[in-house]
Amino acid sequence: MAEFTMELNDEQKEVRDWLHGFAADVIRPAAAEWDEREETPWPVIQEAAKVGIYSLDFYAQQYFDATGLGIPMAMEELFWGDAGIALSIVGTGLAAVGVLANGTEEQIGTWIPQMYGDANDVKVAAFCSSEPDAGSDVASLRTRAVYDEAKDEWVINGTKTWATNGGIANVHVVVASVDPELGSKGHASFIIPPNTPGLAQGQKFKKHGIRASHTAEVILDQVRVPGSCLLGGKEKLDERLARAREKAAKGGERVKNAAMATFEASRPAVGAMAVGTARAAYEVALDYARTREQFGRPIIDNQGVAFQLADMRTRIDAARLLVWRASWMAVNGKPFTGAEGSMSKLFASETAKKVTAQAIQILGGNGYTREYPVERMHRDAAIYTIFEGTSEIQRLVIARTISGMPIR
Ligand SMILES: Cc1cc2nc3c(=O)[nH]c(=O)nc-3n(C[C@H](O)[C@H](O)[C@H](O)COP(=O)(O)OP(=O)(O)OC[C@H]3O[C@@H](n4cnc5c(N)ncnc54)[C@H](O)[C@@H]3O)c2cc1C
Repeated sequence: MAEFTMELNDEQKEVRDWLHGFAADVIRPAAAEWDEREETPWPVIQEAAKVGIYSLDFYAQQYFDATGLGIPMAMEELFWGDAGIALSIVGTGLAAVGVLANGTEEQIGTWIPQMYGDANDVKVAAFCSSEPDAGSDVASLRTRAVYDEAKDEWVINGTKTWATNGGIANVHVVVASVDPELGSKGHASFIIPPNTPGLAQGQKFKKHGIRASHTAEVILDQVRVPGSCLLGGKEKLDERLARAREKAAKGGERVKNAAMATFEASRPAVGAMAVGTARAAYEVALDYARTREQFGRPIIDNQGVAFQLADMRTRIDAARLLVWRASWMAVNGKPFTGAEGSMSKLFASETAKKVTAQAIQILGGNGYTREYPVERMHRDAAIYTIFEGTSEIQRLVIARTISGMPIR
């Protein structure tokens, strides 16, 4: 187990500087254009693939970094560049983590490379859990997977919504119920291979922020996948279901379901994205406050402005520390006994919303226009308190953890 450290090592610093260069030279200059176009920035993803940022190798290297700082450092730098484009680059990672967390070695080796493609033919992947009537209440999802024993195939029907890269993905990972009686304990995750008949994109959403990231419904109509597409395999699922049925019969101790495992691992990473957006807005505001003059002096000469910047910086650093701690705990298999993952996501996402709003205020009229990036950053920041569990859901998790009570 690696000791918790707040200092990046030399190798991590090198990676950080390289990512920062890409974010500053490639992502940031393209941000306004793709925000306006509201389309997936394929050329930027391709650039990222060419230099090795959009690749399984890079992602795995950061994911398995024992210090836990690899993923948060990478997320912060990319999202510092632009949240919408960065999500297009790292969105595939959510599906990849779903496979890494629940899949067999063979499934990991087969499907993750197909999620990324290669620099000449980049692909993306989607993780589809949310449904129109199952957002925060993941347990109530209705998508059904039924096993056809004669053919060793699973037949999947349902409608997924809000899927990042949904419909444009080469590989979709879909969470479905295999035993509705068991609620969330009866969920399983499935790979839907490229070009599988019956999977179609529904509505593509026009969004408030992160508009360069594609978000859409995914319709599954009599989708048939081979038995090998069940993540973790049938034997493991049957054992898990048998245990859940036994516990349900005894009055029911809760067992973790596949989708929650994905969210737990990814929450600090979302916190790091929020830190990146917050830091970006703070830097623009600090720079502006130093150079903009009113009443014959820079506006930062006023405590009213300088203190806001002091608060912004303090919150950002506090958010980063919570994120790094949670990420270190996740990588080193330390259970979140104090809901540290939720704390990091809650604080960092609320920080991004607050700090980007303060940045607009510091830029005055300019902050309110699309001539300056803080307007876009503020729109982008609003997503962090919604996806991967809303702030209210994070508070619920924290409150239940600290109180031991079934708070509703
Ligand atoms: C841009 C975008 C990308 C997304 N990407 C993905 C993706 O790739 N894959 C995926 O599966 N999902 C994705 N999501 C879905 C996202 O995770 C959900 O939107 C989120 O979990 C909230 O669900 P909901 O929108 O149905 O809101 P609801 O659950 O309907 O919540 C509405 C409001 O009620 C509050 N609320 C609900 N229950 C409680 C409670 N018990 N106590 C207090 N307050 C409560 C919520 O906090 C929220 O404020 C994405 C969403 C967006 C907007």
